[in-house]
Amino acid sequence: MANPRFSALQTIQNRIPVPPITRKARPSEIFGENVFSKTVMKHYLSKEVYKKLLAAMEHGATIDREIADPVSSAIKAWALDKGATHFTHWFQPLTGMAAEKHDSFLEFADEEAIDKFSGDELAQQEPDASSFPNGGLRSTFEARGYTAWDCSSPVFIFETTYGKTLCIPTIFVSYTGESLDYKIPLLKSMAALDKAAVDVCNFFDKRIKRVVPTLGAEQEYFLMDEAYYNLRPDLILSGRTLMGASPARGQQLDDHYFGAIPERAFAFMNELEFEALKMGIPLKTRHNEVAPSQFECAPRFEEMNVAVDHGQILMDLIDRIARKHKLRALLHEKPFAGINGSGKHNNWSMGTDTGKNLLTPGSNPQENLMFLVFFSTVIKAVYEYADVLRASISSAGNDHRLGANEAPPAIVSVFIGSQLSKMLDEIVSPSRKRKKDQPSAYMKLGISKIPELFLDNTDRNRTSPFAFTGNKFEFRAVGSSANSARPMIVLNTAVAELLQEFKKKVDAKIKRGRKKEAAMLDVIREFLKTSKAIRFEGDGYSDEWVKEAEARGLANVKQTPHAMDAYLSEKAVNLFFNNGIFGKEELHARYEVFIENYLNKIKIEADLMADMGLTAAIPPAVNYQRTLLSNIEAAADAGLNKKVVAAQVKIVEKIGGYINDIVDLGEELAKAREKADKQADATAEAKAYAEDVFPYFEKIRSAIDSLEMLVPDELWSLPKYREMLFVK
Ligand code: ADP
Ligand code: MG
Repeated sequence: MANPRFSALQTIQNRIPVPPITRKARPSEIFGENVFSKTVMKHYLSKEVYKKLLAAMEHGATIDREIADPVSSAIKAWALDKGATHFTHWFQPLTGMAAEKHDSFLEFADEEAIDKFSGDELAQQEPDASSFPNGGLRSTFEARGYTAWDCSSPVFIFETTYGKTLCIPTIFVSYTGESLDYKIPLLKSMAALDKAAVDVCNFFDKRIKRVVPTLGAEQEYFLMDEAYYNLRPDLILSGRTLMGASPARGQQLDDHYFGAIPERAFAFMNELEFEALKMGIPLKTRHNEVAPSQFECAPRFEEMNVAVDHGQILMDLIDRIARKHKLRALLHEKPFAGINGSGKHNNWSMGTDTGKNLLTPGSNPQENLMFLVFFSTVIKAVYEYADVLRASISSAGNDHRLGANEAPPAIVSVFIGSQLSKMLDEIVSPSRKRKKDQPSAYMKLGISKIPELFLDNTDRNRTSPFAFTGNKFEFRAVGSSANSARPMIVLNTAVAELLQEFKKKVDAKIKRGRKKEAAMLDVIREFLKTSKAIRFEGDGYSDEWVKEAEARGLANVKQTPHAMDAYLSEKAVNLFFNNGIFGKEELHARYEVFIENYLNKIKIEADLMADMGLTAAIPPAVNYQRTLLSNIEAAADAGLNKKVVAAQVKIVEKIGGYINDIVDLGEELAKAREKADKQADATAEAKAYAEDVFPYFEKIRSAIDSLEMLVPDELWSLPKYREMLFVK
């Protein structure tokens, strides 16, 4: 039989490019075409209903029954006009991808076919969703789960080649009110942040009534031809390559980064952008990333709830459209060992209803003080809840990426740039050397020197997991396949908590007679002092940092089961409970879901490792050994000097050694699994897998990769790194 690798190569060379999509209009004209937007609402709704719906949208409420009927009629009319045939409540269970269950508009009334979509169908559904992860919540409480429209996120139409579906973004909740999704806690964390931030804003400006967190998430991914993908069971089942020798040419040359986008990838991106824009996703940038065949796209930032929904839709689109182009998109955090992994950089800030970005330094002392309040509070929040933030980005996939040489380490730290650092240090301990005629700026609040400092936008540090980038923080440690809501829930809540603390402290000082501005500066100083350890300006990839971080008492938790402990700490339980995000059971349920998810992934990988070692790596090696052995035998028969085939004997022995390693290590791995499986609970089991089973992956892989480098190319049937990464 022909080597499937070579057949794949042939297929790829004969690919006919997907015909280009014809854009019937400019991007600005197609933007939001498939969204039930405010403009569309105005057109389809009566003035009175429109006003009520708008109010509900702004307050993040679910809609009241009174307007559900007229709104659903309008949505139905719009969706049918657009050619949609089905509708679905679209929600975000803890599986990671969005879920949907389609119902047809079609109904039969008195033998007649009609299109129906009632207020009830819009407002609430009870999907048979019992198989979504719930961490035991629904067996303890109630089996039923409900979805209800979250009208702060617009209804949209999802269009595929074969049809259009009306999607209603919904929350997913159990009968007794526990959240089973990402959206409910996200909305709650946004509300907590809103309240706490408005309270603090009102120290400065009483007109501010609303603060929303904003999110702009950059999405990295790899593209690969589907013919190769289909030959890699590890990619199909685990999303990453579990084996594969390093290509001679890795990313050393860095020539892919921002280079010309290859034609097929370009065709894919073009279509991705087109479809995303139609759904109102403000996709703005596209470019090559550092690794070969790695790309990135980024929408403009939006209100967080909508940005999170859009992030989920975007991942779905990337996956679907890649398939149309005979490509596969890899959203895994680390599809290839030794090559850069993929992240989803969460750019985060807070915006007011008066149009102010709270992380933009102002142009006068008062505005600068306001900036400093929020800036130092965020730093303090990250310091206080670093472990929970670390937990919120943990997954089996991201474990491979964090701390690998090209991604931020598992140590949470904050980068703010050297100039801001200097300024903060100066605030904490004003230098004595100030000239006489220059009054102590900080006492008088003439912090007027700050604005110029911000113009320097080159002060960047790509090695930091949490970096200030001029007017926002960028949480770079988030994994590429993650739902951004998970870390954003923690960040919003932690900042809300510290803003409350800030206010409480300032109020107490004012009560004791301290001036408002001076009181705020006191607390800023205190926050900066006590959170100093989290600030790091150096190279986050270096070994020195690992040592220094340890000396500073910062945690460096490398694996998910250990990182997740933070969710169960008293501090985390109190944080989430006091801010109304999760009850203790809900938090625990979430913990269980993530631990289960980790276990499932690592078990699949363990199965694959053993299976692929035996069925894909050993057979071609044995084949080659046989050839060599008959050669050696023939040489002996011909009476040749042993020296003639000495090297071949060595190779036969080497191959034998690696084969033995694969089999022996496989047996050890099986034993380690047996032991891990006997642990009393999922926590202990997950930790045992992380500590005792996982290390075998690397060892077995190393033996397999050694074989790959010994066995003749024509015998090896798993696509190699150089092919998957470089052949376009
Ligand atoms: P940079 O040069 O820092 O990467 P970009 O303008 O390319 O800046 O922004 C990167 C991402 O950050 C984009 O998704 C952008 O929309 C987002 N972003 C910009 N401002 C904000 C903000 N105030 N809040 C949240 N995200 C923001
Ligand atoms: Mg980036």
